[in-house]
Amino acid sequence: MVIAYIGLGSNLGDREANLKSALDHLAGVAGIEVVEVSTLRETVPVGGPSQPPYLNGVAEIKTELLPEALLDALQEAERIAGRRPTGVRWGPREADLDLLFYGNEVIETGRLTVPHPLFRDRSFVLEPLADLAPDLEDPISGRTVHELLLGLMRRRSGKRSTRLIETKADFRDYLSMAERNRFTVGLVPTMGCFHEGHLSLMRAARASCDKVVVTLFVNPTQFGPGEDLDRYPRQLEKDLRLATGEGVDVVFAPEPAEVYSPDHRTSIEVVGFDSIYCGASRPDHFRAVATVVAKLLNLARPAVAFFGQKDYQQSVVIRRMVRDLDFEAEVAVLPTVREEDGLALSSRNQYLNTSEREQAPVLYKALTAAREAFLAGEREGETLLATIRDVLESATEFVPEYAVVVHPETLEPVRVVGEDGAAVLLAGNFGATRLIDNILLGA
Ligand code: AMP
Repeated sequence: MVIAYIGLGSNLGDREANLKSALDHLAGVAGIEVVEVSTLRETVPVGGPSQPPYLNGVAEIKTELLPEALLDALQEAERIAGRRPTGVRWGPREADLDLLFYGNEVIETGRLTVPHPLFRDRSFVLEPLADLAPDLEDPISGRTVHELLLGLMRRRSGKRSTRLIETKADFRDYLSMAERNRFTVGLVPTMGCFHEGHLSLMRAARASCDKVVVTLFVNPTQFGPGEDLDRYPRQLEKDLRLATGEGVDVVFAPEPAEVYSPDHRTSIEVVGFDSIYCGASRPDHFRAVATVVAKLLNLARPAVAFFGQKDYQQSVVIRRMVRDLDFEAEVAVLPTVREEDGLALSSRNQYLNTSEREQAPVLYKALTAAREAFLAGEREGETLLATIRDVLESATEFVPEYAVVVHPETLEPVRVVGEDGAAVLLAGNFGATRLIDNILLGA
């Protein structure tokens, strides 16, 4: 009998069930005994086209089969687990079974290279392999699996890998670990499709907290009928890569059914703030935002939760909810990140066609004109608004929804800007694309 190690991977369908059916098949093959299987880990795809995350692990087997016959058995197990030939190299698959080690043999035939040629650079192979056989020696490099894994971690040091969590139970487990270790948690709630605005929040969290947790949840309840829930851009793999680049520890990306039980009934209303400005055209929006943020704060219990000033009314609603309901988190609101021409970054900017995109900086131009008037001494709300309207008129395709000069905390319109300064809030549409922007005066 020879001891062999098999790399396991799946990123299509019910990944755990696929790998189980492949292993069940192997266990039933005469001349193969499955000895042990490592824990399965969620990993970000490496190479190949854009594709969903993998579940990876390693199995230790004992076998009487010769290497090529073992390879046949692995390919049959992949087929039984649902894999069909696609012709796409490194494409997504229901099951991928790689022969990593066959005893300490070095094999090079047309069909087989053993040890597997890429395993030394793949943490998703080395980590589970190290669970089972840290002292296993690579016959080519002469180094043990443990040494190879340490070497890989050293080469990648500085780049922490981001863990993807999809269930509340796993999220709670992670946060209990953080709490036991007295780590401070920075929470960045998002709907994904990351741009520099999101990344700036992650960077601020990284700079001030021990653990950075980003939630990625396109919350269905905050979209009204006819809004863009179905076409809201989604790019999980790219987002995970970007989060990894910012040193994010965890991305929590649950499905709606994981977040809301079917008989969910509770919601939070920050009375008055949810029916004005953006709330006037999006009646249930802020109630849904406050509710989901309250749930995320309860799950993550962060020291600091990070939001963007870009969604100013949202930040006021959240600050007020946190204060009124005695959440312990500190709320940090960070400046709006913009394109060079002033357009505030937004996941929705990609809906704009060429001419709309050319005109889109008009929101920021209008706000800047108001700021210049303010700096030149203008304090009348109505006069500042007139300046804004003048600029907005220059964009023929823009349909304004509202423009207001308001108190930065109470959001009540201000007739004359006083000591507390003011927030100027703007919203409107280019075609079906709704854009918002804002600026603070005297802050
Ligand atoms: P979203 O994914 O659109 O829900 O945004 C998640 C967080 O990122 C919210 O707190 C937003 O206010 C913030 N954000 C969105 N766009 C920007 C931006 N251009 N600059 C700074 N923060 C932003």
